[in-house]
Amino acid sequence: MHKLAQLDHQYLWHPFTQMRDWLKQEPILIVSGQGAVLRDVQGRKYLDANASIWTNLHGHRHPRINAAIRKQLNTIAHSSALGLANEPASLLGEKLVCLANPDWLTHGQAGDAVATEPLSRVFFSDNGSTALEVALKLAYEFARRTGRSRNPRFLSLEGAYHGDTVGAVSLGHIDRFHQAYAGLLFSSDKAMAPYCYRCPHNRAKPERADAREYRRCRWECVTAVERKFAAQQRQGNPYAAMVVEPRIQGAAGMVPQPDGWLRRVASVVRGHGAQLIADEVMTGFGRTGPRRLVGEPTASETAKSRRLAPAFFASHQEEVQPDFLALAKGLTGGYLPMAATLTTQAVFDSFLGEYEEFKTFFHGHSFTGNQLGSAAALASLEVLQSQGCTRRRQRLETGLAEALRKLWDLPQVGDIRQVGLVVGIELVKDWRRRAPFDLRQRAGIRICEAMARRGVLTRPVGNVIVLIPPYCTTGEQVEQMVDAVYRAVVETL
Ligand SMILES: *Cc1c(COP(=O)(O)O)cnc(C)c1O
Repeated sequence: MHKLAQLDHQYLWHPFTQMRDWLKQEPILIVSGQGAVLRDVQGRKYLDANASIWTNLHGHRHPRINAAIRKQLNTIAHSSALGLANEPASLLGEKLVCLANPDWLTHGQAGDAVATEPLSRVFFSDNGSTALEVALKLAYEFARRTGRSRNPRFLSLEGAYHGDTVGAVSLGHIDRFHQAYAGLLFSSDKAMAPYCYRCPHNRAKPERADAREYRRCRWECVTAVERKFAAQQRQGNPYAAMVVEPRIQGAAGMVPQPDGWLRRVASVVRGHGAQLIADEVMTGFGRTGPRRLVGEPTASETAKSRRLAPAFFASHQEEVQPDFLALAKGLTGGYLPMAATLTTQAVFDSFLGEYEEFKTFFHGHSFTGNQLGSAAALASLEVLQSQGCTRRRQRLETGLAEALRKLWDLPQVGDIRQVGLVVGIELVKDWRRRAPFDLRQRAGIRICEAMARRGVLTRPVGNVIVLIPPYCTTGEQVEQMVDAVYRAVVETL
């Protein structure tokens, strides 16, 4: 075993990993990366098919981002945001507010179903969990200060994953992550998630297509959300906020929402005067595709310019503006740990007061507004906004869709769901009955191990194989990724 791998085995503890299994085999030890390719200590090359756990946007060792970090290093790496301002964090704040409020988004009056106030304030932190933690605390206090609720409660979706800190876990609904820590968590309510493939209300027989396309239902999942809101209202303590991963739930198993779900649900949330917290930790920064999907053109835009109008956030694809936008993973292009929680002026204002009123938001982290992270993020966003990147993402989206088609030949493929540049492939024992593999059979893990032997790295979510390629992935590399899934399924199952 390589010396460094030995050290890993001797000293490290890996996240979400059964360490007994980990210690049984030599780990793949990464030493470098270039574009969509990772290289290990033995000199083997791999495609980074899950963008280093959903973080990387433009590929590894991107010249623009590398240069920006080097340039920042020549001035300063970090100074505190507690009591001090700095250049890159200020510039990034402006940039994020600009991206989060495209001019086509209508900012309506209070009571307007979907549109709301602009997102005008940015609170920085370090990772997705803390970004959600910030949104949670702000929404909690806002609901109390505005007199909406003395004991604010939150609604989120079945299978939701919002991070691993105690507040973020409390908002999530993956039972396995909850059992051990139930005593530490506060309770939050869950609503039915729109999981068309396994939806009890979907009356369609399985077909060789994305279940969202052939589903037959009456939007019972939206009704379920409505009922939750109505019931909570009747109890005299209306929900403070609903938290959603817009367009697609990640750790739930890449569970996509049918087009129009988000808009409908946003209007239920707003109809009840609650706030909407969008967890775009995975979906942000163009991940769910380059374009907007719904709505009529405004006077200043033609239908054509609108079809091509880029959307950088999943919420905006359905022209929904949340009250909180939580960002992390891709914020720095996947380079450095940095997160942001954007919110409205109304929330910000509710924390203003005389010093001695102590309305201050008493929350923050040592590395809040870090300069290196901010510089990386600024460079990454510049790349993201270039026309070249929009075209690349468009090509990648169609390239993936085309390559994935051949997987329908495999009887163990039950559902293939793609939202932009995110793909979930659900493996089943028998597609005609949607019969799932027992998790103890480790079907997803075994497929990913076989893919790794073929030079493609990703991690499954249960029995769902995930492909989230970096935006620089070429057509040929896409073929290679999908081919690895195909062959791994044939040889393993
Ligand atoms: C990854 C993720 C988180 C947590 O982010 P960390 O940086 O791992 O703390 C939260 N929400 C979603 C949707 C995620 O995908």
